[in-house]
Amino acid sequence: QNGEKKTVRAGREVILSGGSVNSPQLLQLSGVGPSALLGGLDIPVVHANDNVGANLQDHVGINYTFRGKLPTLNQILRPWWGKLLVGMQYILLRSGPLSLSMNNAGGFFRTDPSMTRPNMQLYFQAFSTVIPKSGERPILTPDPWPGFSIGLSNCRPSSRGEIMIRSKNPRDYPRITANAYSTNADVDEMLAAVKFVRRIAAMPAMAEIIEEEVLPGPSITSDADLIQDFRKRSGTVYHPVSTCRMGPDPARAVVDPRLRVHGLGGLRVIDASIFPDNITGNTNAASILTGWKGAELVLEDQK
Ligand SMILES: Cc1cc2nc3c(=O)[nH]c(=O)nc-3n(C[C@H](O)[C@H](O)[C@H](O)COP(=O)(O)OP(=O)(O)OC[C@H]3O[C@@H](n4cnc5c(N)ncnc54)[C@H](O)[C@@H]3O)c2cc1C
Repeated sequence: QNGEKKTVRAGREVILSGGSVNSPQLLQLSGVGPSALLGGLDIPVVHANDNVGANLQDHVGINYTFRGKLPTLNQILRPWWGKLLVGMQYILLRSGPLSLSMNNAGGFFRTDPSMTRPNMQLYFQAFSTVIPKSGERPILTPDPWPGFSIGLSNCRPSSRGEIMIRSKNPRDYPRITANAYSTNADVDEMLAAVKFVRRIAAMPAMAEIIEEEVLPGPSITSDADLIQDFRKRSGTVYHPVSTCRMGPDPARAVVDPRLRVHGLGGLRVIDASIFPDNITGNTNAASILTGWKGAELVLEDQK
């Protein structure tokens, strides 16, 4: 600080809650992580554990976008006067499009009816942003035509990625390798899922309000083209977990069931990075519960 090196010590323990990206990054920078990685970056190894930053799991999603026959939120959110109107509506009445969630509807489904639980999550957005203005966030410029999207993301993908530091400089972003669709199972279920979305769109209630499919578009029909499309257009739905996963076995986990870092004293990780595996749906509530449960464990262990 101000050119002066300061050391801060914890009286009882250090609790790391940097999230699934920053917690493994901070551990690795501190010498807790894969020894080959740390050695290569000239970081002294405090405790070797190959699981720090490994086992990255995330839900990966894609949108199918349609031009509709009825007005959608595009018609009010695109023009400047519409933005002004909905802004005033929200400020004065706390209502209107800006009071809504991005996703106006959603659900879960199974790509194979014999499954015991859903493996795909559905989203419905009553706006579209296929043609973003350059230099502007796409969401600020909805399309000029009445568009909407049906999106989906996988619930329990088997692909595993990793988050590893690139240097010993804490200001350098770590390298995030998603490895999405790196297993045949993940490719197969997403292929079945995008076909299911088209089936939904073909149902009479939907078909009568759809003018055309814009993305990926009617020319994309073969399995190979559908796979190429979702490999190209899929993105994270921001649910990364498991980069400091919890488990009793130090060979497979970073923290023990009381969230203490295996092999070290006085250090816990309490955030979504400790999920042993991803949950089926959105991760925020489970992260909050992780914090709640983690706080209880800290208090219990102080007795
Ligand atoms: C764009 C987006 C949309 C999402 N939408 C949803 C949703 O609709 N529903 C849902 O359930 N989940 C959603 N999620 C996921 C959800 O937000 C996360 O699962 C959850 O916040 C994870 O909690 P966490 O405590 O592990 O990490 P975080 O919430 O990321 O908390 C980590 C904190 O540590 C801080 N930090 C990191 N490094 C340092 C450092 N070096 N020094 C000081 N502070 C540091 C960060 O600033 C942050 O405040 C979304 C996530 C994103 C990114």
